[in-house]
Amino acid sequence: MATMYYEKDVDRSVLDGKTIAIIGYGSQGHAHAQNLRDSGFQVVVATRAGGAGARLAEEHGFSVLATREAAEKADVVMILLPDQVQAAVYEQDILPALTEKKMLMFAHGFNIHYGQIAVPENIDVAMIAPKGPGHLVRSEYVKGGGVPCLFAIHQNYSGDAQKIALAYGLGVGGARAGLLETSFKEETETDLFGEQAVLCGGVSELVRSAFDIMVENGYQPEIAYFEVMHELKLIVDLFYQGGLAYMNHSVSDTAEYGGHTRGPRVVNDSSRDAMREILGEIQNGSFAREWLMECLVKMPVLQKMRERDRQSQLETTGRKLRRMMPFVEPKEV
Ligand code: NAD
Ligand code: MG
Repeated sequence: MATMYYEKDVDRSVLDGKTIAIIGYGSQGHAHAQNLRDSGFQVVVATRAGGAGARLAEEHGFSVLATREAAEKADVVMILLPDQVQAAVYEQDILPALTEKKMLMFAHGFNIHYGQIAVPENIDVAMIAPKGPGHLVRSEYVKGGGVPCLFAIHQNYSGDAQKIALAYGLGVGGARAGLLETSFKEETETDLFGEQAVLCGGVSELVRSAFDIMVENGYQPEIAYFEVMHELKLIVDLFYQGGLAYMNHSVSDTAEYGGHTRGPRVVNDSSRDAMREILGEIQNGSFAREWLMECLVKMPVLQKMRERDRQSQLETTGRKLRRMMPFVEPKEV
């Protein structure tokens, strides 16, 4: 069983008088910086000059420093840049500022686990990884809640690494939901597997396939959209509150029976074999190599996939319908 830490288990005073630098003001950065500040901690922000993140950070009342300057000022340096740019920024502007006993932090273990960032021996290295996107890390905190976080210690030079990481986790609101102890290896591998097999990969592909099959069979695209995309949120909300049992309790008996008997025909032994293969590629580092190579050549595969989705009937239908439903607070990218 995992060890969980909650607010009562955390000593926030270890961060008294210390400065936290948030490097990057994107999805996670804006949430960590604001939550930590609202929790009473001293925060400085660094992000690309002139970018959208810098403008937003200034709007939120932070003065935006250069990365080197922020890392020099801080006792705790949290890197919240895209995983594929962290190593270069680290080498150039963070490493030179990492004097003895500082703490370097990550929200995902990718660069440490796959050896892209090598750290000096005389600092602490820890992770606080929220199990949710940044906008939720912020909105749950504002509501008085929090998003559960994984934490891990890669290096404990000061002897206080765990206390400091837990206090940081409290500052972002994670201790309200639970801070769960893990390792950089376990966090990295499970995070990648979760997003590939289910959260970003598996679920999207189920929706795409079911939508296309309905449309191919002459059903109206709007109905197909409501059925497999819009309603998915309602089902996931039931999972979130009460697991599979509450979902099955809330849907009709017909839906429950159809789900139990047909679901395993969609996700079957061959899907499970594919999942095992995907996990293997994460564990042996071949996914990480492939992704870093894709970044090196300016992401041609990713660009093509984005364009394919943008033009798909699922997405064009969805955009049109969401514009008519302001209550869903439609977003366009
Ligand atoms: P993001 O892409 O939303 O934001 C990155 C920030 O870095 C932006 O402010 C961007 O302007 C800035 N930036 C980009 N390139 C830069 C460069 N070359 N130099 C300086 N600044 C640059 O990133 P994110 O999704 O918040 O991810 C940050 C970290 O958090 C990653 O390690 C990620 O794995 C982890 N994480 C993300 C999520 C999530 O849901 N987004 C959840 C948990 C953990
Ligand atoms: Mg994740």
